[in-house]
Amino acid sequence: MDPSKPTELPVRPKEAPKEAEAAEGEPKISKRELAKQAKKAAKNAAKSNNPQPAKETKPKPQNGPKEAPAPRDPDAMFKIGFLSDVYQERPLSETHPKIRTRFPPEPNGFLHIGHSKAIAVNFGFARYHGGECILRFDDTNPEGEEERYYSAIRDIVSWLGFTPVRETHASDNFDRLYELSEELIKRDGAYVCHCTKAEVKAQRGETDGQRGGQRFACPHRTRPIEESLSEFRAMRDGKYKAGEAALRMKQDLEDPNPQMWDLFAWRIPEGGKQHLRASKYAMFPTYDMAHGLCDSIEGITHSLCTTEFQLSRVSYEWLNDKLDVYRPMQREYGRLNITGTVLSKRKIIQLVKEGHVRDWDDPRLYTLIALRRRGVPPGAILSFVNELGVTKVGSNVQMHKFDQSVRQYLETTVPRLMVVLEPLKVVIDDLADDHEEMCEVPYSKDPAFGTHNVPFTKTVYIERSDFREVDATDYFRLAPGKTVGLIKVPYPITATHFDKDPATGVVTCVHAKYEKPAEGAAPIKPKTFIHWVGESARHHSPIRAEIRTFNSLFKSEDPSSNPAGFLADINPDSEQIYADAMIDPGFEEISRGAPWPKEAAETDVTANKHSIRFQGMRTAYFAVDRESTPEKTILNRIVTLKDTQGKT
Ligand SMILES: [Zn+2]
Repeated sequence: MDPSKPTELPVRPKEAPKEAEAAEGEPKISKRELAKQAKKAAKNAAKSNNPQPAKETKPKPQNGPKEAPAPRDPDAMFKIGFLSDVYQERPLSETHPKIRTRFPPEPNGFLHIGHSKAIAVNFGFARYHGGECILRFDDTNPEGEEERYYSAIRDIVSWLGFTPVRETHASDNFDRLYELSEELIKRDGAYVCHCTKAEVKAQRGETDGQRGGQRFACPHRTRPIEESLSEFRAMRDGKYKAGEAALRMKQDLEDPNPQMWDLFAWRIPEGGKQHLRASKYAMFPTYDMAHGLCDSIEGITHSLCTTEFQLSRVSYEWLNDKLDVYRPMQREYGRLNITGTVLSKRKIIQLVKEGHVRDWDDPRLYTLIALRRRGVPPGAILSFVNELGVTKVGSNVQMHKFDQSVRQYLETTVPRLMVVLEPLKVVIDDLADDHEEMCEVPYSKDPAFGTHNVPFTKTVYIERSDFREVDATDYFRLAPGKTVGLIKVPYPITATHFDKDPATGVVTCVHAKYEKPAEGAAPIKPKTFIHWVGESARHHSPIRAEIRTFNSLFKSEDPSSNPAGFLADINPDSEQIYADAMIDPGFEEISRGAPWPKEAAETDVTANKHSIRFQGMRTAYFAVDRESTPEKTILNRIVTLKDTQGKT
């Protein structure tokens, strides 16, 4: 990607007329008119999906109704709508020669699907405008911080294809925050308060859980500046215990916005807990204190966050202005939420602890490590976020809509193989024991993917569900007396009879004949073709695998609203394991050729087993699980081939 391109996009109207004048030399058109035209052109260029207006922007002609839709412009969300408006509010200029954003996760949990939007917005916005994005760990609340969360966050950002210009911690700025806090006190913008929690609530108009009462100032609000200063230093040096003293901003109690009701700025942690990285402080700044000022200190131009922080914008601006420091521009977009699952850390911990899921990366969860393990490609996640678009309004998306987006992404980007989930042995009695016919199977509808050969032999395996003991007129797959095609095998087979385990009644083997026509006779045309895998040790066929398929972990769209608790909503059939599945031998070749799709961040296939993705013809999309070994292949189902839940 050429980072210089996008920044050229919004042509500055005042420069454009000059160019037009020189080129046209047309005296009849007024400068004003030219400016208008240039502005229009710039607008059109910005709206266009193609950065070069000269190029054809029409979608490619479609070959047939089954052709996948042309991929959307991956930068669409930056070109029009909310993010474009945000840019226009503060475009590149002499005071802002470079766009700088930040992604500020708390290192106390794994990122989930909702964070992918924050990553796409913050990193993407910077990249699109040729700027940079900082990965800032917001360690203002070290409760629950763990090293593994740091590395997982780094890892996921990189997996999604983004590189932070640098990594910072909110705590890197504590010294500066401390200085600024003393300055704030000196400017009569903060005071040390010794009120209890209940007292502070009452001051904010809340008594016995009832809000909206009269607000009033606490007695410490008017204490002398010098006194607050010395008390603040005492706080820093460990004189007080948790709850005995706190620094509060001196804002505006008359303001209807609760973010102006003398917010806490520094607090003393419970039990004198030390900060992991800034142990010299016996107190920690609050999010409200640290966030806006860290943005300011780090020279963030556009601080993009979700609408939960809309009210905080006022305190963010108040604090920067009160201290007379550089003020970044905070703007808020609607968050992304997936329904039918739980995303809260507390709930996922419970699921893991009680064994409802394997771990934080269980493919049924919507943490980003879980989606990765399931086999969802990073590009599909970004494309999903882009498709939803970025506005002020949040998105509550059903899981099957997400799956549909993933399915579309995979359709044209991964190879195809034949996979039999639940094999049923078929013996073609009229073939010689050593019959071996190589059948060429294309890896994709796209010829660029090439083809591979699979052995057609006397014994093949088909899907158990593709056979019926009793035929019916509206049934077109295999049954006694019925003829069916095997994908890419020259002639069809007809079932003659079958064997059953007398004890269980389960069909153990189907006998069939090969319908190779006699010379001069017309071949039989089957109504349906089914997938299959031949038995040939010489050609490593079949490759045996354990395949795990997943359904929604919960029964309802809103597990948390279950009166008996979210665990009562767990779907007992959320996972089905096919222990004896079979894959055609093309699996070896596509494993060597991974990653599929060719995602930039997955070139190390050993570290990214999930990047071995493919479509099982007539079955589903699959990816290799991280537990897979050379001795035992384990696959996860990424998504089904068709949307079966979306029929609403
Ligand atoms: Zn007080």
